[in-house]
Amino acid sequence: MPAYVHDLAGLADHAKGIAAALPPGVEFYYAAKANPDARVLGALAPHVDGVEVASGGEYAHVAAAVPGLPIAFGGPGKTPGELALAVRSGAHRLHVESEHELRQVGALARAHGRPVDVLLRANPPLELPGGPAGVPLAMGGRPSPFGMDPDALDRCVAILAAEPLLRLRGLHAHLASGLGADALAALGASLVQWAEAWARGHGLAVEEVVLGGGMEVDYGAPHARFDWATYGSALGRLRAHGSASAREPAVPLLRIEPGRAVTAYHGWYVTEVLDVKRSRGRAFAVVRGGTHHLRTPAARGHAQPFTVLPRDDWAYPWARPASGDGEPVTLVGQLCTPKDVLAADIPVAGGLRAGDRVAFAMAGAYAFNISHRDFLMHPPPTFHYLGEHTGEAPG
Ligand SMILES: *Cc1c(COP(=O)(O)O)cnc(C)c1O
Repeated sequence: MPAYVHDLAGLADHAKGIAAALPPGVEFYYAAKANPDARVLGALAPHVDGVEVASGGEYAHVAAAVPGLPIAFGGPGKTPGELALAVRSGAHRLHVESEHELRQVGALARAHGRPVDVLLRANPPLELPGGPAGVPLAMGGRPSPFGMDPDALDRCVAILAAEPLLRLRGLHAHLASGLGADALAALGASLVQWAEAWARGHGLAVEEVVLGGGMEVDYGAPHARFDWATYGSALGRLRAHGSASAREPAVPLLRIEPGRAVTAYHGWYVTEVLDVKRSRGRAFAVVRGGTHHLRTPAARGHAQPFTVLPRDDWAYPWARPASGDGEPVTLVGQLCTPKDVLAADIPVAGGLRAGDRVAFAMAGAYAFNISHRDFLMHPPPTFHYLGEHTGEAPG
């Protein structure tokens, strides 16, 4: 206690369903930063085309955890050492974030005598649905450290022309997180249209356009899922017909790299209520652990959905601290900061009592791996995996 529980069989089924909803010519890479747990990667491996990594650390970890699976290396601020690693080890895809990066990759390709396939990460002038304020996390379509504005992309064409070992495979964009299927497909269509026009303007062909991740995950609706079927058929139409007009050549390959919508649903953070208190008329339940294990609700400012697992044993001779039946309770952790809130003002039927257990759902993505785990030096959670099919003896 506290513990993370991952349902690997459920996760594998979910990933299989996503892959089945995608038409031919659309590759499914998993964004490792959402949850790089080696057993999570192992459960996903049979159902994804590859993994997108954003650091040398993720690259080495993914290569060791799921050997042989194609890796796309992206992310801002790659160090000279990381770029050298990507070139030397032959990363399947390299997403280039700036002119300086492209020049470095060119020099490394020459130094190692190795051809390198690159995709240029773009920050195209596209309207996000509802404007930048209309999406939870806008990464582009406005001033951004991610990717390149069109004028920088234009200058990359000259750099590429002078570097015979660099081959332009295509364009990459990851513009927003938290969009539903229709909005994300519409954004994808304008991205493909923009990419085709950009390439045509330079007399180039784009073989591949990466549409990024960002599929919506609604923490207020734990049973809802992104509509992969609708999104998949929209991408199928986009690939088959091109976007500008039916006469235009289609982009041969599209790629998506979702993270959160893949792994969020199959992880739980399970802990116990240490105490229940009342302050100025409001009930607080203090749980073992907190946002140093599960930072997601603090990072996003939401209430993490949870289920109460009542425990009837009570070891003390005095009355058990408890909230009232149906009374709103704020669940906080053990940290000495008012930001350590897992869920605020949630009515709990039957009340929440000291000693009860609480299972926080949707803790499979951007959860433990984004948490400030050493703050206050509480013990780390343990990790448990359900439905693993490795054939290995339990360790
Ligand atoms: C974070 C990220 C993703 C995954 O985003 P999700 O919202 O988890 O789907 C994909 N591509 C890039 C470049 C990213 O930075």
